[in-house]
Amino acid sequence: MTDRTRQNPESGKRGRVVILVAPSGAGKSTMAKRLMAAFEDLRFSVSATTREPRDGEQDGVDYHFLSPEEFQRRIDRGAFLEWEEFYNGKRYGTLRSAVEAELEQGHSVLFDVEIYGAWNIKQAYGEEALAIFIEPPSRKELRKRLEKRGADSDEMIETRMKRVDEELSWAGRFDLTVINDDLETAWAEIRNAVENHLI
Ligand code: 5GP
Repeated sequence: MTDRTRQNPESGKRGRVVILVAPSGAGKSTMAKRLMAAFEDLRFSVSATTREPRDGEQDGVDYHFLSPEEFQRRIDRGAFLEWEEFYNGKRYGTLRSAVEAELEQGHSVLFDVEIYGAWNIKQAYGEEALAIFIEPPSRKELRKRLEKRGADSDEMIETRMKRVDEELSWAGRFDLTVINDDLETAWAEIRNAVENHLI
């Protein structure tokens, strides 16, 4: 037995949408992993991107890694629920068919995308979606976390921090804001909110 919570026991009910929104480095991925471990019927929405895989990242698991040409073909076909271009021309997007298939099967879908993508998904799904904004404790702390992660060059960190300033101004526009200054407190809040949404 595990302590994972089963929310949709073959009820024929359509799944629901959970969106984690945060500036990168705010602890969003940690929360996403914990939610996936805690809720059995939650499926992670794997985005498509044109960026290179980082060490340890797997195609089809972390992202669908697409060439710019393939990404463009899918845009032309209208395959994306939303997509965006940022970080020096890299594109990221959510494939509509994969999400709909899960929802139709009664699985709920967890999104870990950046802010504008999250906003677009929230607009698309309305009440079906719970969008949680995770706020880092401070700008200084956020920079420290990004540096510690070691995934980005100094220049990339500067680019990310500029974007963060803008992103922070979006706090309060989603369904719930959780400040991640204490991981366990933030996790308890997020877990409760998701549990209530998925019931
Ligand atoms: P990273 O390169 O660090 O994996 O991701 C960079 C940013 O892209 C993160 O803020 C991440 O949430 C965002 N992102 C990932 N997938 C998607 C997506 O499908 N759509 C949008 N709009 N942003 C995404």
